[in-house]
Amino acid sequence: MVAGRDGPDEEILVMARYGELFLKSEPVKHHFIGMLLRNIRKALGASGISCRYETPRGRILISGDDPERIAGIVSRIFGIVDVSICHRTSKELSELSRSALALASYSLFAGMSFAVRAKRQHKTGLTSQELGTEIGSFIYDHIQGLNVDLDDPDYEIFIEMRDFGGLVYDRRIPGPGGLPWGTQGRVLVLLSSGIDSPVASYLAMKRGCEITHLYLDAGRWAGRDVTAAAIDNHRKLSLWCAGNPLPMVIAVSEPLFDRMIQLKIPPRYRCVICKRFMQKVAGRLLAHEGALAVVTGENLGQVASQTLANLGVISDAATAPVLRPLITYDKEETIILARRIGTFDATPGDLACRAVPKMPATAAVLDEVRTYEQEMGIEDLVEYALAHTRFVTALDGRIMEEAGLVHGE
Ligand code: ATP
Ligand code: MG
Repeated sequence: MVAGRDGPDEEILVMARYGELFLKSEPVKHHFIGMLLRNIRKALGASGISCRYETPRGRILISGDDPERIAGIVSRIFGIVDVSICHRTSKELSELSRSALALASYSLFAGMSFAVRAKRQHKTGLTSQELGTEIGSFIYDHIQGLNVDLDDPDYEIFIEMRDFGGLVYDRRIPGPGGLPWGTQGRVLVLLSSGIDSPVASYLAMKRGCEITHLYLDAGRWAGRDVTAAAIDNHRKLSLWCAGNPLPMVIAVSEPLFDRMIQLKIPPRYRCVICKRFMQKVAGRLLAHEGALAVVTGENLGQVASQTLANLGVISDAATAPVLRPLITYDKEETIILARRIGTFDATPGDLACRAVPKMPATAAVLDEVRTYEQEMGIEDLVEYALAHTRFVTALDGRIMEEAGLVHGE
């Protein structure tokens, strides 16, 4: 038991709330909560924090030495809706009231308005509303000059009266929501040095997918800082699955561009051929990675190559479903999200692709594209990419290892 700041008997703990899992049937819910708990344990374990856990209905209670730090880590775990640092008391109204007053007195002063939001689990005794009124009156009587405002208060305090005791808190730290990492199977995310694909990866992770990143290194056809920026995106994304190693495959695509130039393939088709090539390489890695779909940061109409017609031609090269979480996003919406999740880099360096034509085709003709690819010996180029791969594992915001061939080991 951790001594609270208001008395040796009061315990401070972290309460995490999960949301959508309520929609599931009992066995599925049980499984998902197990995964969620496992992810919380891993994330806290990775930070060297040891905790005790309780799982009363609809809540996860975590007790440990540093509640602020625990709350910070848990509020980044998918499946968590919000996190509060709570004071645990007995179920006695008098004790709940004293605890609420003690907590409120840190933030609530004369002239301010306040509201008590109370919930109680049992159908006997005080109703939730009565509980709120009782505690509200107690606070009102002890702090001078307050107003009650239930619609738009300056200060809110939350009370829960539950089987295991009472909880008092006044802060709800938002979590990312979504579903626990690992509940939806693995996807292969085409991760670039750009802004979009890290956000797409985050969104796939948010829906419970385990991730393998795939980056294609175009060598001298890519800007000087592209590979470093892609690896850095990978590193930053590992902070969203703390405690779970995040794999990345880097495959070489330089000869693809050499071949397109050498054979004078119409420049307008370069982007579509490049994206189809990525799908072909991804398709070959799916089984190796145990992945069931490919995720990209593609968007409708963002660049000339991302028209509906071209997206169709690109999907034709895929062997598994292609998920495009950003398909309807405005660039500004993506940037806001990228900033929020910590992947946005305002000074990314030289990321320009040297092969982008002045006028990419907006409606590539599939048959023509296939003919050019045949001429280029595309399958050999895919084999080359697969034979020249390396693995980069990231864990908790650090690059752990950067070596090894995936194929041809
Ligand atoms: P982003 O779209 O991620 O900001 P970008 O603008 O450099 O990067 P686009 O040309 O828009 O890339 O490519 C569309 C999508 O193709 C990307 O969102 C990403 O999923 C994938 N992609 C692009 N370049 C690479 C690469 N070098 N390796 C792996 N995937 C890539
Ligand atoms: Mg893009």
